[in-house]
Amino acid sequence: MCGIIGYIGNKQAYPILIDGLKRLEYRGYDSSGVAILNENKKTSIYKSKGKVSELEKYTSDKDVCGKIGMGHTRWATHGEPNDINAHPHQSANGYFTLIHNGIIENYSNLKKRLENRDYVFKSETDTEILANLIEYIYIKGKVSAEMAVRLALTKVVGAYALVISCKNEPEQLIVAKNSSPLIIGIGQEEYFIASDASPIVQYTQSVIYLNDKDIAIIKRDEFSYKTIKNDILSPKIEKLNLGIGAVEKQGYDHFMLKEIFEQPSSILDTFRGRIAADFSKIYLGGLLDVMPKLIKTKRIIIIACGTSWHAGLVGEYLLEEFTRIPVEVEYASEFRYRNPIIYKDDIVIAISQSGETADTLSAIKLAKDKGATVLGICNVVGSSIARETDAGVYTHAGPEIGVASTKAFTAQVTILTMMSAMIGKEKNIITEDKYKKLILELISIPDKIKKILLLNERFKKIAAMYKDANNFLYLGRGYFFPVALEGALKLKEISYIHAEGYPAAEMKHGPIALIDKKMPVVVIATKDKSYEKIVSNIQEVKARKGIVIAIVTEGDKTIKEIADHVLEIPKAEASLVSLLAVIPLQLLSYHIAVMRGCNIDQPRNLAKSVTVE
Ligand code: GLU
Repeated sequence: MCGIIGYIGNKQAYPILIDGLKRLEYRGYDSSGVAILNENKKTSIYKSKGKVSELEKYTSDKDVCGKIGMGHTRWATHGEPNDINAHPHQSANGYFTLIHNGIIENYSNLKKRLENRDYVFKSETDTEILANLIEYIYIKGKVSAEMAVRLALTKVVGAYALVISCKNEPEQLIVAKNSSPLIIGIGQEEYFIASDASPIVQYTQSVIYLNDKDIAIIKRDEFSYKTIKNDILSPKIEKLNLGIGAVEKQGYDHFMLKEIFEQPSSILDTFRGRIAADFSKIYLGGLLDVMPKLIKTKRIIIIACGTSWHAGLVGEYLLEEFTRIPVEVEYASEFRYRNPIIYKDDIVIAISQSGETADTLSAIKLAKDKGATVLGICNVVGSSIARETDAGVYTHAGPEIGVASTKAFTAQVTILTMMSAMIGKEKNIITEDKYKKLILELISIPDKIKKILLLNERFKKIAAMYKDANNFLYLGRGYFFPVALEGALKLKEISYIHAEGYPAAEMKHGPIALIDKKMPVVVIATKDKSYEKIVSNIQEVKARKGIVIAIVTEGDKTIKEIADHVLEIPKAEASLVSLLAVIPLQLLSYHIAVMRGCNIDQPRNLAKSVTVE
């Protein structure tokens, strides 16, 4: 939510900021803005409602010269998307200019106090309050810009990633972070600041991931790093290990399509180096230290949001089947506020693509406070969740830029499968044979996905037939119930068609009332132990004239005779089929949304990583 970019160096800032904003646009795209500090110490601010392209048009005849600057693409939390609420915001007397990602939770208190001191606000944002609070402290306390920022931040409750400039100290940018992501890229006498690595990777591979409540004061030739309480720190410089291709579309029409097609290789990357060359062993290094606890634990709680929550549900089935440890899957946002019962020997697994999901982060803190061991499964290396958890595993699926998550889901399920098999083997719940079979099956998944992707044109044809439907129902049993939920979510997110995912047997308890000849029902009906039951569910839909699009195992003849359309996927071990069954659902949603003229990579109202509550 909200993309932040900053530059200080010897190059012109504007092209770097605009390019960075385009790469960060997936994080928010309701308005954007830049502030450029020029050689005459003047700050020019340009803001515009809408996409970054609108901002570019608006600035086309403006003076954008300057080698220091900041840019912001917004996902509004406080105040509607318009030119005034767009960032950067400037303090009332023009001393401070800043951009912000996050929420200042005590903004209304701070606002009242500033209003009592005659401050007047132009925007409806929480961000503008912070700009003025810093200015107030700066003027009243006659302190340096850095100190004003630090003092102001001690009064702030909430989340922030900030880039701040002060007109009286124009040679520097001040950046700070708490619960919202921020990275500093280090070049040759130049620094890049961004919400994530995507706008930095083309300039440098050396980065610093800021920690919560840390602040950096950045000049071209000087860099200092400390806590907001003024304790000097020496920052850890890390290597990104990311190519520019990973953050570009590489010929695909949309990032989402690229990421769907990347899944054979992203899954390979997820298990690369983690399976012995002779396929005899799974090795998840991040779990070794906690393995004794995992073996002994009486309960696992999975916390996640959105698509990651669906992966967590698949994880519940996998872990219970292979390890016989009871598993609960919780929405992080519910878990954190409902005073959950957490025991000291519980293992909590937090799943998040970005590793920055605000609710998941808070749920982690709660679980840690109660003494549980918390593990993370996330994609973004160095992210807050990776750092907050006791141990964990990266999915290594590469940057996911499409707002609708696809390859992150299959990578998370891959990790959960490996984790379940590894614990199950250690606990002697699964036999050596079963363990090896699972490994071989997992290794064969990328090629099976390649086969499914070859059917893309067929998915497109079906999409064309149902693109105008108002509702869709998705049904599945067992491992495929979470896949049904995920299929419905994909369709809602990018095509704005109402869709519901249901456990197939539950259909009779309500949703069956919705079925008529206009209702497409997508049923995951591959051959497994509930095959006969799902065939009956299909019959029930057909008896009410519903349209059945069935995902079936290659060569299935029974369902071909009753369903309107069958989409065949290769045969696989039942516990792994969810990795295959989700692919046609992703492509169906994608094509429907394209045909409806929707914005695939930037669906309305959504943003990629939900870093606000
Ligand atoms: N709260 C700020 C605003 O509404 C930033 C929002 C965000 O980071 O998502 O402008």
